[in-house]
Formats: sequence, C-alpha cells, structure tokens
Amino acid sequence: MAVPQNKVTRSRRNMRRAHDSLVAANPAECQNCGELKRPHHVCGACGHYDDREVIAMADEVDLDDDAA
Ligand SMILES: [Zn+2]
Repeated sequence: MAVPQNKVTRSRRNMRRAHDSLVAANPAECQNCGELKRPHHVCGACGHYDDREVIAMADEVDLDDDAA
C-alpha cells in the first residue's frame, strides 16, 4: 500500500482545501411560469425552454383517451 512520504501540515492541508468550496447556483426565473430554474436548462416545473414547450408534463397527458 502506498504510504505518504511526508506529513502534510495543517497549513498545507488547509491551503489545498481553500479551493474546495462550492459555488452557489445562479437560478433564473422561467419565462413561462416564473418558477426558478437553472440557466440554459428546461424548466422542471412546466417543461418549457425558450418560450416553447419541449417536454410534456405528466399532469397534462390524459391517459384516459387511450385506455378506452
Ligand atoms: Zn416554467
């Protein structure tokens, strides 16, 4: 098993971890429904992208038409 040759000091460890912090997301409002969504992604609430519907939401599909 590989063993570290030198002890990593608290200082060097913390300097390495100085770049590990997460960056906050930058949500934007959906132009269709106003829900917050990730930029350049389809809206998860209404399935719209760039003012047109690209994903049909499950609650909008009427399954009873095909069942009969
Ligand atoms: Zn939306």
